Amino acid sequence: MPDAAGPNACWQARVLTLYPAMFPGPLGQSLAGRALERGVWALQAVDIRDYARDKHRSVDDTPAGGGPGMVMRADVLAAAVDDAVAALPGKALIYFSPRGRRMDQGLVRQLADAGGAVMLCGRFEGVDERLLEARPIEQVSLGDFVLSGGEIAALALMDAVVRLLPGVMGEAESAIEESFSAGLLEYPQYTRPMEWEGRSIPEILLSGHHARIADWRRAMAETITAERRPDLWDAYRRARPSQDRRGRRGKTD
Ligand code: SAH
Repeated sequence: MPDAAGPNACWQARVLTLYPAMFPGPLGQSLAGRALERGVWALQAVDIRDYARDKHRSVDDTPAGGGPGMVMRADVLAAAVDDAVAALPGKALIYFSPRGRRMDQGLVRQLADAGGAVMLCGRFEGVDERLLEARPIEQVSLGDFVLSGGEIAALALMDAVVRLLPGVMGEAESAIEESFSAGLLEYPQYTRPMEWEGRSIPEILLSGHHARIADWRRAMAETITAERRPDLWDAYRRARPSQDRRGRRGKTD
């Protein structure tokens, strides 16, 4: 895939992978796909195998000290990483790993603002540790489970970033109100039909009273966050001690 027009004309992603055909994959559809076509962002999937040094194009070898599986070679990966960093200087450099910092909306926002990222997808048992020491790589995890490769994590991260880029989402508000933006999970949403399987839409939402609706939504968001994510709720209350007086206090303490 060719690079986008100007050097920083759009959000630039470069993914280093053994499976370049996995990209853009699902990101070629819908919101991200349209933004890709419009040049809001650009994605180049680089085949790590192109940096192999022998005629078998090998990128991995057996683990030092024994044990199962294979480990990706530092020399091959460093050549791929250095090329990508030279092409996108100053952008984030990420290796996906279960040992990394958990991906969250804060990181997503930070990367969206950073103009692009170089992302290294591991396979097999992962990469030679020396690569992670020798290059300024930030390790990022999709969650506390083990994937078979970093590609799905890269797709997840880019999906979350691209929807935040200017002009990608329809209404600017949808990014402000949604889960995590204010440190809370989102309030419940409803749409027609008004009655479904005997269940109706909460009356307040039909009242047309915007201030009361906003209050109700905030209260629901707080209740849901307190119940489901005590970690987020604690952080939210710590960040906003003065606003924590609207009846939620007794609920979970
Ligand atoms: N042996 C490793 C797992 C290797 S899985 C361990 O126990 O930590 C192969 C590759 O999948 C990893 O190199 C990493 O790039 C990717 N991967 C696996 N789980 C991941 C996760 N939770 N988040 C991000 N990437 C992950």
